[in-house]
Amino acid sequence: MAEQIGFIGLGIMGKPMARNLMKAGYELTVYDIVGEPVEELATEGAKPASSGKDVAAVTDKIITMLPDSADSERAILGPDGVLEGAKPGSIIIDMSSISPIMSQKISAECALKGVEMLDAPVSGGEPGAINGTLAIMVGGKQEIYDQCVDLFDIMGGTINLTGEIGAGNTTKLANQIIVALNIEALSEALVLAQKAGVDPEKVFNAIRGGLAGSAVMEAKAPMMLDRNFRAGFRIRLHQKDLRNVLQAAQELNVPLPATALVQQMLGSLVNDGDQELDHSAILHFVEKLSDI
Ligand code: NAD
Repeated sequence: MAEQIGFIGLGIMGKPMARNLMKAGYELTVYDIVGEPVEELATEGAKPASSGKDVAAVTDKIITMLPDSADSERAILGPDGVLEGAKPGSIIIDMSSISPIMSQKISAECALKGVEMLDAPVSGGEPGAINGTLAIMVGGKQEIYDQCVDLFDIMGGTINLTGEIGAGNTTKLANQIIVALNIEALSEALVLAQKAGVDPEKVFNAIRGGLAGSAVMEAKAPMMLDRNFRAGFRIRLHQKDLRNVLQAAQELNVPLPATALVQQMLGSLVNDGDQELDHSAILHFVEKLSDI
């Protein structure tokens, strides 16, 4: 019989990740607070559940893919949450990008009930989720990782255990600094070109093969040039990630001045109503400074 997997949080990332597991032959029981994606996956063969508790009662490995720390805490530890239904020996794989401190807190609560946990956030965006090519950054015990690596192989292309519980999210925070600052730099470069009367598309084509070229540039410059800011990765989620970066940095007494600046820019975009746009819309902020 096919292995039963639970999947909670069926948004931009979770739905295609769940779909890939189903295509690979796993039987999925799924839940989201929004009914629509649950019904959609049910038509494709998943079993719908009405709470995280119900998912955990019928599966031994439960994946969560939720927006933020408070959502993972509520979905796993809260009333009708995963831990209420989980059995000793069950494994919760939280693939949400959350604070490493929260991962450690949730894991400690789970351990009291004999439930294991990995934090396993991802990078690669919606295309990586659809194509099963995500970079997966895992924290937790080696022996628990070994039991889950087959699942990671289906959803991801680059899979790394970087340390104990929380290390996955610390790795993801490092990733999010680099992505945010790259998008901001790309925005400044394109605005400068435009103001100088040089076609930004020609600038992109001229520099993409040189040292400035990057995966971020390849993914985001075309969106900026087409002015297509459909998420992708929402501004409010990147704001959340940089908030978690700065919280961790403050506790470690690590100054991160450029990250703090971009975090402020993201906050301003949220206040302007751009929170649901793709993070490539950082371009809006830089354009406004030059009255574009
Ligand atoms: P999303 O907002 O599209 O999806 C989140 C889903 O979780 C929604 O369907 C929501 O209804 C559901 N949800 C929220 N609280 C819940 C709860 N308590 N119980 C059950 N379901 C609940 O977000 P997303 O873009 O899929 O991102 C998910 C996570 O992955 C975030 O932490 C994000 O930072 C990270 N991430 C996103 C991307 C991307 O490009 N979108 C890339 C890498 C990592």
